[in-house]
Amino acid sequence: MVNTTLLINEKVQVFLKGTKEMFIDGKWVPAVNGTLYESINPTTNEVLAKIYEGDEQDVDLAVKAARRAFEGGWKKTAPRERARLLNKLADLVEENLEEITQLDSLEYGGTLAVAGGFAQNAVHHLRYYAGWATKLYGETVELTGGGNIHAYTKREPLGVCGQITSWNFPALVACWKLAAPLAAGNTVVLKPAQQTSLSTLYIGKLVEQAGFPPGVVNIVTGAGSKLGEAITSHPDIDKIGFTGSTVVGKRIMEKASDSLKKITLELGGKSPNIIFADADLNKAVPGAITAILMNTGQVCAAGSRLYVERSVYDEVKEKLVEIAESFVLGNPLDPNAQMGPLVSKAQVETVEKYVEQARKDGANILTGGKRPENPELEKGNFYLPTIIEGLDENCQAVYEEIFGPVLCILPFDSIEEVIERANSTEYGLASGVWTTNLQTAHTMIESLDAGSVWVNEYYLTDDNIPLTGFKQSGVGSELGLAGIEAYTKVKSVAIKLG
Ligand code: NAD
Repeated sequence: MVNTTLLINEKVQVFLKGTKEMFIDGKWVPAVNGTLYESINPTTNEVLAKIYEGDEQDVDLAVKAARRAFEGGWKKTAPRERARLLNKLADLVEENLEEITQLDSLEYGGTLAVAGGFAQNAVHHLRYYAGWATKLYGETVELTGGGNIHAYTKREPLGVCGQITSWNFPALVACWKLAAPLAAGNTVVLKPAQQTSLSTLYIGKLVEQAGFPPGVVNIVTGAGSKLGEAITSHPDIDKIGFTGSTVVGKRIMEKASDSLKKITLELGGKSPNIIFADADLNKAVPGAITAILMNTGQVCAAGSRLYVERSVYDEVKEKLVEIAESFVLGNPLDPNAQMGPLVSKAQVETVEKYVEQARKDGANILTGGKRPENPELEKGNFYLPTIIEGLDENCQAVYEEIFGPVLCILPFDSIEEVIERANSTEYGLASGVWTTNLQTAHTMIESLDAGSVWVNEYYLTDDNIPLTGFKQSGVGSELGLAGIEAYTKVKSVAIKLG
């Protein structure tokens, strides 16, 4: 395997030295309790950096700073000034794309191509919502009862937003959690996942450099069970924006109810990807591979249940296995690697347990189903691309989110059957359909109970398209106009004119 340290750029090496502090009220500070945790490189399981582990005392300081910044001026800042600052931050993130990409590759194991693509999307995302800062407005309202009354609505920011992120594309999700709330005039207390705090802290340096007033953005680091809970139960936080698992999302909803905080929850999925016999298989098969193996399967919207019409099932299966077996696993900083490790030892063990259970349920493991037998990879959290057949929707590997490179393939015989089976899940995040028949495509679009339906391509996401989790995949929407409106409240005004 390529020597990691040789590949790390100088700025990243400097950044990794020393103890990483939190960003509160415009200053870099240690945790009040002085405790530290270690960030681990999943490629080697060696320590990458030491980071302060905050608790409710740090959250309280951050919330107080965010409240002061909000009331002290940020909520009334001219929208074009907010746009300018967000555009400045986007420029700085773009100038530091290599560093941010490397930090994410080092900390969660995404390949340079994937982590770099996500980091570039973070830049687009910041610019996208910088644009919306100057385009939010209310409406004039004609009253149903008539009369000499002037009525209108206006949009106002919510206040202090507690933003909590997942580890699977850290820099991008951090920017998702900053851009819309800041553009709408809110202040932010941001908590990255404990496994992946580094790129968020690096972006914190860029927030400082961009010139955001102190307290507008605060970054606290630490465990979900302690720091996350302190955020969701803090009485002076107005909204929680969360990306993570459904289990934790439910807990957040419960805690947020104490003070009726507004919430946006982007949660897990077990998304169906469906290949009809009339599809262009030269596109559908590689598309199905990307749908499951991109980011080592650690994507909320991963196409982890692949339904294939029976007449093309064997052909699709053969091609899938061929591509999966050609995948090059390796150090994510090596440009030749197509797939890196999973984020942590715990995550590989989770994947192993699911595959073990699948075996007990009678699965036929077509390829993978184990860690690679390559001495160069044995220190890291690597797992082979895995394709499983012979299970149905009653099996755990088919109905639960695995969050690893494990694809279940399932044959089907009719459109009615596949609609019912695709929807037979508690999740409803995304779905894919591969067909050349317009009627089939539209029938599926109407019938799939998922927030996103992608036809003849997978991961057709864009800043302008809202991302919504149906059923237990979420509450509210992120991205698009809906994504920024979720960080505003509508005030209604009625003036009696005499
Ligand atoms: P996770 O739920 O374990 O953790 C997410 C965040 O919540 C972390 O910052 C964690 O520290 C924090 N947290 C944990 N317990 C908490 C608590 N009790 N109170 C407050 N915060 C707490 O998720 P993860 O393992 O980091 O990420 C993977 C999950 O995220 C998957 O389920 C995936 O589907 C989901 N995800 C969803 C989207 C989406 O847009 N829908 C995007 C990416 C990931």
